[in-house]
Parts: sequence; C-alpha cells; structure tokens
Amino acid sequence: MLEAMGIRLWGPADEVATEPKPPVAPPASKLSAGNRGASASRAGVDFARTARGDSPASPRSAGAGAPDVPAAWQALADEAASCTRCALCAGRTRAVFDTGHRQADWMIVGDAPEADDDRAAEPFAGRTGRLLDNMLAVLRLGRSAAPRLTPVYLTHAVKCHPPGSRGPEDGELAACETFLRRQVELVQPRVILALGRVAAQALLGRAEPIGRLRGQVHRYAGVPVVATHHPLFLLRQPEAKAEAWDDLCLALETVTVSSDT
Ligand code: SF4
Repeated sequence: MLEAMGIRLWGPADEVATEPKPPVAPPASKLSAGNRGASASRAGVDFARTARGDSPASPRSAGAGAPDVPAAWQALADEAASCTRCALCAGRTRAVFDTGHRQADWMIVGDAPEADDDRAAEPFAGRTGRLLDNMLAVLRLGRSAAPRLTPVYLTHAVKCHPPGSRGPEDGELAACETFLRRQVELVQPRVILALGRVAAQALLGRAEPIGRLRGQVHRYAGVPVVATHHPLFLLRQPEAKAEAWDDLCLALETVTVSSDT
C-alpha cells in the first residue's frame, strides 16, 4: 500500500510486496474520542469490507418524494459557472466545480483549482491528482466508475483558479463557502477529507498548520472531517506520506463506524 503511494519500502526482497495489499485497520491511538469504542478486531473486519466497496459505502439512491436533486445540482453548477462573487472570477478559464460521484460517502476537498484543473475543468486533473488517485486506489476508492472502486466526490474550497497559483485569500474562501456548504448538503457524505491547510481552514474555520489539525476527527455541518496533507505538499515532502496514510486510515475507519450506526 505504501509502495503504491510512493513510499519507499525497506526489508528483505521476499518480504516487500510488489502489489498493493488489502488495507489494515488504523491503530486505536489514531481514533478520536468518539471512535475509540470500536474494537481493533471489529474495525479490521469492517475496514476490509468497506474497502471492497460492498458496504453501505456504495452510492445512495434518493427515496420516493425526495427533492429534485439533479436539478439542484445543475442550478448550483450553473451558479458557480457565472459567479462573480470574488476577484478570482477575473482570472479563470472556467469555474472548476466538481468531479466524481455526487452520492459518494467520501467527499474530498482541495484548496483551489491548479492550472491543469482550470484547463481541464476538473479538480485534481494534473500530477497532484495522479498521486491522489494512487492513494485512493490503495483503499479501492476512485473518482471513476471503474469496477471494484468505491466512488468518491471531489471538489475544491474555491472554484476558480487563483492567479499565479497563489493560495486563496480569506475573503475568497468566505465568498465561495456558499457553494461548498451546498455541495455538502447535496452529497451528504459520511466523511470529508480536507487536503491541506486552506481546505481545512475553509471547512473548520481554523487557520492552523495542518500538523495541528490532522490525526483527529472534526466536524463540518455535522459531517466528520479528517484533515491531511495536500498531495502537492506530499510531492515536495515525500516523508510526510506516512502521516497522510495514517489520516486516510482514520477517514476510512470513520466511514466504517458511521455505516454501522
Ligand atoms: Fe465565485 Fe467561488 Fe469563483 Fe469566487 S472562487 S468567483 S466565489 S465561484
């Protein structure tokens, strides 16, 4: 698993796997107070089940009498496409709204569209996205509808590419939060994975380094939030991949526990 994330493995050649192995449960010390009641053995079983995608982690269907969700999505995407609420609209090619499955249990939030995203009109379209896809694939999660992959939903805290690839400013995050909140309401995820300090700030309202926010479960609009390093940071600081892996395990455990309750 770590090899698939680009983490170098050490040990006798016959003990180093060349293919990803099934995921293992995170250590109990990584769980928040609300999750610590789950036994390690139970967590291990459920962890594997969720990773296979044959649990309630599969996309949900709307019940009878549900509001017209597709129409709500279209209206929200259209609103973002024509939005001029902050200065970022001036430099975008187009608003980068979302990708993946809109009824996924996993919602993944980055900071802002990169230049590749702006060109492709898709979040995480470039090399940071390839690393993210590799990390998710280890847990059998993915943005595509490929067989054996449990779908995820991806978006950014702001929908427009900042000039010079600078980080979004506080006012821009606040202006775009309406879209993020509505996306969470429509997706109704079981967990939100916040990638990087800016995404965590947008969701948690706390401008702290990711090192202080990761490793625990927060809440946004009642939904559990796990913060971790942004893939771009991991490309520059590969030694942080082990921490990102711990956080992914914590998010998976959070989905599993919420599926059981
Ligand atoms: Fe509107 Fe968000 Fe784009 Fe700002 S970043 S113009 S608030 S869609």
